[in-house]
Amino acid sequence: MKILLHMCCAPCTTYPLKILRNKQFNVEGFFYNPNIHPQDEFDHRKSTVEEYSHIVDLKVHYDFDYQEQQWLDYKDDNRCKMCYEIRLEATAKYASENNYNGFTTTLLVSPYQQHELIKEICESLSKKYNIKFIYYDFREGFREGQNTAKELNLYRQKYCGCIYSYREREMKINAK
Ligand code: SF4
Repeated sequence: MKILLHMCCAPCTTYPLKILRNKQFNVEGFFYNPNIHPQDEFDHRKSTVEEYSHIVDLKVHYDFDYQEQQWLDYKDDNRCKMCYEIRLEATAKYASENNYNGFTTTLLVSPYQQHELIKEICESLSKKYNIKFIYYDFREGFREGQNTAKELNLYRQKYCGCIYSYREREMKINAK
C-alpha cells in the first residue's frame, strides 16, 4: 500500500516512518509547510528534510514555495486549525490525484499539537478526496523520535513554525 506522509519536519518524521515501514507501508514524503517563518528557518527545515531523506532512502515531494505573506493575516486563536487544514488539504489532494492508497501526517507524533483536531481534519479530508486516512497515535514515540534525530545530528527547531510562534519564543527569551 503506497501512502503519502505529510512531513512537518525531519525530527518528527523519524518515529512515524519507522512505524509505517514496520507495518509494510510503502511510504513517500510530502513537505508542504508554508507556515514556516522566516525564510531562513524554512530553508533550514527543508534542507534538514533533504539530508534526512537521503539517510533513510525516503522519496520526498516538494511542490511549493515559501509563502510568508499568506500567514501574516493569522491573528486569531483559530490560526492552528487553519494551519493544519491548509497543509493537510494539500497532502490529501496530492495523494488523491497521484494514485496513493492513503495519507497521514507527522503532526500526529507531537504532544504539543492538537492531536484530536488534526485527526478530525484528516478524517474529513479523507471523505472529501476519497482517500484513506492512515491513523496512528504516534505520540508514544515522540521522545524516541527526538533521540533518533539527536543521534543523526539533525537540526531540531525551537518553535512550532509560524510568525506568531516565532514571536512567542522571542518574548520568552527576552523575559528571562
Ligand atoms: S503555532 Fe504551529 S500549528 Fe499553530 S499556526 Fe503556528 S505553525 Fe501552525
